[in-house]
Amino acid sequence: MKNDNNIDLKNGIVLPVMESFLTIQGEGYFSGKTSYFLRIGGCDVGCHWCDVKESWNPNLHPLIKVDTIISSILETNVKTVVVTGGEPLMWNMEYLTSQLVKNNIQVHLETSGAYPLSGTFNWICLSPKKNNETIEQYL
Ligand code: SF4
Repeated sequence: MKNDNNIDLKNGIVLPVMESFLTIQGEGYFSGKTSYFLRIGGCDVGCHWCDVKESWNPNLHPLIKVDTIISSILETNVKTVVVTGGEPLMWNMEYLTSQLVKNNIQVHLETSGAYPLSGTFNWICLSPKKNNETIEQYL
């Protein structure tokens, strides 16, 4: 990874995106709601049952500018974005979520709770894992 990319990644200006797509939320309180899923690459929690192990290595996923991500989302007119992973909170979520909030988009998060919270979310779906203790701020 180049140094410029490292700085941008640290500041949340770029993020490793594994996949992104418009779909219907299939589970939980918002089940049935049209949502844009943004799957961020990178996770070191290591659950043996994980069904997205291909997300674990962030270097396998392209660093995409958050401004580009936001443009793609706005084109869909969706009102809810689900930030999932991997473990999204390995990265700085401040810029991404601030841009979504600015555009009146509800921002949901799916996290293991293994990393400190960054960014602003309307809804947090916490899924504690036995490999990592859940950080107390979520409890
Ligand atoms: S925290 Fe989630 S993405 Fe990471 S290993 Fe566990 S189930 Fe997979």
